[in-house]
Amino acid sequence: LSLPASPLLAVMESMAVSTSVMGSADEFDRNVPRICGVCGDKATGFHFNAMTCEGCKGFFRRSMKRKATFTCPFNGSCTITKDNRRHCQACRLKRCVEIGMMKEFILTDEEVQRKKDLIMKRKEEEALREASRPRLSEEQSRVISMLVEAHRKTYDDSYSDFKQFRPPVREGPVTRSASRAASLNSLSNLSDASSDSFSQSPESVDMKLMNFSNLLAMYQGNSPEPQKDPTGLSMLPHLADLVSYSIQKVIGFAKMIPGFRDLTADDQIALLKSSAIEIIMLRSNQSFNLEDMSWTCGSPDFKYCINDVTRAGHTMELLEPLVKFQVNLKKLNLDEEEHVLLMAICLLSPDRPGVQDHARIEALQDKLSEILQDYIRVHRRSRLLYAKMIQKLADLRSLNEEHSKQYRCLSFQPEHSTQLTPLVLEVFGSEVS
Ligand SMILES: [Zn+2]
Ligand SMILES: [Zn+2]
Repeated sequence: LSLPASPLLAVMESMAVSTSVMGSADEFDRNVPRICGVCGDKATGFHFNAMTCEGCKGFFRRSMKRKATFTCPFNGSCTITKDNRRHCQACRLKRCVEIGMMKEFILTDEEVQRKKDLIMKRKEEEALREASRPRLSEEQSRVISMLVEAHRKTYDDSYSDFKQFRPPVREGPVTRSASRAASLNSLSNLSDASSDSFSQSPESVDMKLMNFSNLLAMYQGNSPEPQKDPTGLSMLPHLADLVSYSIQKVIGFAKMIPGFRDLTADDQIALLKSSAIEIIMLRSNQSFNLEDMSWTCGSPDFKYCINDVTRAGHTMELLEPLVKFQVNLKKLNLDEEEHVLLMAICLLSPDRPGVQDHARIEALQDKLSEILQDYIRVHRRSRLLYAKMIQKLADLRSLNEEHSKQYRCLSFQPEHSTQLTPLVLEVFGSEVS
């Protein structure tokens, strides 16, 4: 029996054998049954360039190392099977070569040792990496679970309490800038938009954001009905109750942030008054729906599109950046831990008007920022995530400013301000206590 000397020849030879298993381990298709090309037994993978069982792998290695020469006791054309493979070593070895096994693939003892050393070294490196991997301290983990619990206790994602609010009324005028945007769009435009981009990925929605008046028309649903009362803001009572309810929940959340209750009452109030709307905007992201740009809070009655908010007196000056904010925040795909940390960091901003103990609040906020950064590192999230989250806090500041402006305008009109709740009046009111 002569073995081909060159690997190339061996490969070419093995290619001529139709039953040989070709290809490397990389190309191996998982769906192909793993059968030993020599004896038909269950194969364990590619050995010395061919798919074989452990038995034939060992047989080939031993034969090559011993430089064994075998002679077939029969006529040199035995069919090798799992059961008879021990009967004729000559034909078994011939079969090995036919299916492409090559002695050049057998490692020398030295190579085997080198390979073992390498594996050992990799294991050691991995262990070292594992040991030096950033970990959250017990204290940090405790803070995170407290915040998660605080949020779960104050955010009911069944939205069942919404039934207790004054009911939503979706009629009457939308504000000037919203109806103007709507009238710019023809019906055909609307149906086009709904067929090709409603159900698409957030990216396609993003494209639409480029042209906001288009977007608005797309997502606003029914056209406004004829006005009954030109000054009426039909959604105001319901949304005022919703905001009032949300403020209560934000207060509940704040009280459970470690360190918040230890602040003076004045500082607690100052922080809550200035950040409440920002926290509401943040937490509302949980119900925000990228597919139709609405806040979807359970039943269709409690699905709020842009128009609904304009029917509570807000204009596109606020709603356009607000929806963009919601879209971008949603796309960060924050997990619950990141979401609650961001809210707590936002709430404990020392640079709010009326804050007395600036240093103490800053220390609390720094601690939370550090936890967030460590959390992001430990969970191997994007390196940019922290920066993007902090950018969201800057966005919230300008949304807050615009909201205050529009709120002030509304609150100066008695027919509207009487629809608000005492809590809304107090928290959004401009007097600094
Ligand atoms: Zn075999
Ligand atoms: Zn034989």
